[in-house]
Amino acid sequence: MKSSNWWPSFLRRSERAAALLALAVALATAASAETAPWHEISLTIDPRTRALEARDTLSFDSARKATLLLAPQFQIKSLAADGRALEPRAETAAGLMRIELPAARRIDLSWSGTLAALERNVEHVQTLSAGAPASGPEGTFLPAGSGWYPAVEGTLERYRVEIDLPADQRGLAPGRLLEEREAGERYRARFEFSHPSEGITLIAGPYRIEERQVRTAAGSEVRLRTYFHAEIAALASGYLDAITGYLDLYERWIGAYPFSEFSVVSSPTPTGFGMPSLTYLGIEVLRLPFIRATSLGHEILHNWWGNGVYPDFSRGNWAEGLTNFMADYAYRERESAQGGAAVRLAWLRDYAAMPEKDDLPLVGFVSRRHGASQIVGYNKAAMLFFMLREAIGEPAFDEGVRRFWREHRFRVASWDDLRAAFERASDRDLAAFFDQWLDRPGAPELRMEAARAERLGARWRLRVTLAQRAPAYAFSVPLAISTTGGQFARRVEVSRVRESVEIDSDSEPIAVTLDPEHRLFRRLAPAEAPPILREVMLSADAEMLALSPDPGTQQAARSLASKLFERAPREITVALQPRAGVLVVVGLHSDIDAWLSRMGLPPRPAALGAERGSAQVWTQRVGNTRTIALVSARDAQSISALERPLPHYGQQSYLAFDGARNIERGIWPARPPVVNVTALPAR
Ligand SMILES: [Zn+2]
Repeated sequence: MKSSNWWPSFLRRSERAAALLALAVALATAASAETAPWHEISLTIDPRTRALEARDTLSFDSARKATLLLAPQFQIKSLAADGRALEPRAETAAGLMRIELPAARRIDLSWSGTLAALERNVEHVQTLSAGAPASGPEGTFLPAGSGWYPAVEGTLERYRVEIDLPADQRGLAPGRLLEEREAGERYRARFEFSHPSEGITLIAGPYRIEERQVRTAAGSEVRLRTYFHAEIAALASGYLDAITGYLDLYERWIGAYPFSEFSVVSSPTPTGFGMPSLTYLGIEVLRLPFIRATSLGHEILHNWWGNGVYPDFSRGNWAEGLTNFMADYAYRERESAQGGAAVRLAWLRDYAAMPEKDDLPLVGFVSRRHGASQIVGYNKAAMLFFMLREAIGEPAFDEGVRRFWREHRFRVASWDDLRAAFERASDRDLAAFFDQWLDRPGAPELRMEAARAERLGARWRLRVTLAQRAPAYAFSVPLAISTTGGQFARRVEVSRVRESVEIDSDSEPIAVTLDPEHRLFRRLAPAEAPPILREVMLSADAEMLALSPDPGTQQAARSLASKLFERAPREITVALQPRAGVLVVVGLHSDIDAWLSRMGLPPRPAALGAERGSAQVWTQRVGNTRTIALVSARDAQSISALERPLPHYGQQSYLAFDGARNIERGIWPARPPVVNVTALPAR
């Protein structure tokens, strides 16, 4: 995860949302995937008037009853079951028309209506929650689950869709491009998705298409495309190069890319969606150079995890964690071992910053709705895969991944299916491993109670006592032992609340460090993880003190707090020390300095300098339980300027801004637990 910017986290909040919206419509089972109905849709869209005209021929393998779901702004023009015209009768529930049909093999339905206006400046979160099919000359977005076509309730679907647009527009749907042509002032394209899918999404816009045909590592032909707005058309070849690299990486790692196309499509709204065979990203997002290096790979990997194998949402979502581990995390780990360790530490710090009562077992994660669900669903899950690879070894891990893909391609699969694949690949029973990391909430709190060494002839025997909260986790704990002759690493197996382990050494042990590279999922001790801003943002009972008395500053402080916190802080006028919990202090530079001095707290950190930028933000820990965040600004306007950027810097401990632009940031260093070795008298 890249904390140096805020777009990627912005993206992750939203991706796969289309599929999750569809979840309300279709909670599919592996069995129904075999007989998913076929849609044969043709639609005409005029983005200027936002008019949609469409018809669908829906066929089932055998006659069956079905309920169709369609958005209420559409008028049904005709409806027939097995060729017999029906009077459409619909009731509206949960924002969709429900049309109950008699048993039939074939349904014909035509409908029309006006789409919502695509608002270019609409906040992304609103785009998501609205989820309405929308159109305009800048772009058309008809997400699966929005009711733009008559979806069959409770099943996956297959489809062919023909799009008819004005000649200056291009459109697409996930799947294989069967044909496209320009004729008579119109553009037409036909797409087919023959695997059972979670719904149909359709996108259009004033696109310039760049195309490259590649033969992949697995030998298949894939058509790569960019559908870009004119202002970013020059970025196309860089994106096509990057896609080629990711397809190669994941084909070699997992198995053949499952589709015949992959497209990157620009959106006029600040959006990020991943779908089978395409990703839909905001123009401004696509301009950011690091998107190609991180988020694009994450989206491409979702063609295997999420859009190639579907998570069984009723029993948790493994796809984000596995994608996080094999994309974002893997890129950092491939750069350097330190890069991997830094990401793991960031996950553990985020976890330590989360209030314990917000925790949930990983199996309970379905989608990212707030900070806590991301910390568990993305990060704890990725750490599970990291620890699994440590436990069974990389060859068995990779074999498990390939086996899982082979056996569950285009099917719904659960955490149990993943476990089974890794068990067969490693020839080990992994029930206890998955049980403690998946089904159990929380994290082990592990500490070293003592380390003693005694001399045995020419050698030394070190005895380390480790303790953890009950019920104990079973795991292999990495220790680093410093000796008079240098340092060495050792892993020790631990499975009880208190356990002593013996380690032999050639030279005299001096100190022992617990898990120095953060290879275990565990709750960091307060001293081990100095505070980051996330801890403040996730706090359920924070207090806020607005120091400067003028109403403008007070109002700016209140407004910033409403953006920063998931739950509004309680405003106080006097801070009493000491107290546990989170306190945010907002004020002008001189007021903040005076307050720190009056309270006997450390002054403004040297890392931020005296007057760097228009605003500075930093955290302090007082004792083990009190966390203070300070927001120090030149004026009220500089406080307001933080509203947009600041919530995206949760992994940082200190920051400086010039207006809304970040100019300085950093994390107070972590200090892994160390105990000094006591030498016992020689026997
Ligand atoms: Zn994802």
